[in-house]
Amino acid sequence: MSFPGININEEDKKNFFKRLKDIYKEMEVRYSIVADSLDFNCSDCPDNCCYTHFRHHTLIEYMYLVYGLELLDEKTRSKFVLKANDVVSRTSEAESGGNKIRILCPLNDNGLCALYDHRLMICRLHGTAHYFDSPRGRVEGPGCFRFEELSSGKKKVPMLDRTDIYRNLAFLEMDLRKKTDYGFKIKHSIAEMISGTFGDLK
Ligand code: SF4
Repeated sequence: MSFPGININEEDKKNFFKRLKDIYKEMEVRYSIVADSLDFNCSDCPDNCCYTHFRHHTLIEYMYLVYGLELLDEKTRSKFVLKANDVVSRTSEAESGGNKIRILCPLNDNGLCALYDHRLMICRLHGTAHYFDSPRGRVEGPGCFRFEELSSGKKKVPMLDRTDIYRNLAFLEMDLRKKTDYGFKIKHSIAEMISGTFGDLK
């Protein structure tokens, strides 16, 4: 099983993944500093963000998720593929009727991410207040409801600076797309990525 339509040799793939892992490491460090400063964590959260139907946009992260799935044994992978197929079909049924659906990510396994080391940027950064500087100015986000509760009344709310993280990921993505000559837009949920890549498994 391999990522559809991508022409890349193993050595190059390894190097691209190494760069991604370095960016993920940086996310972890920055996230922990901000989260720890308020004793913020996700335990027993009633609004688990694994229910949020995030759509992801980078080829590099898509490939790294697929690689994580390839490392699983076939039985385990099949379990997640079946769950992903189900999520995709129930979501598209709801959306075609103009409804939103609250449905758990297929990789959430008894409350834990089954591919924790391969989870995507949004899964890693969601929660804390943050900002990033763009050519059009600074963009800020308050964080999730729990973070807002913890930070309310503080003179200075700790914020995660996402500027370099976004920039470095964008450079990595550009280099990968140039190398592989991949020009398609990506706007997929985790379920769509899994189902679209491995969905022929039964
Ligand atoms: S990939 Fe993991 S962390 Fe991200 S939404 Fe799915 S289960 Fe949650």
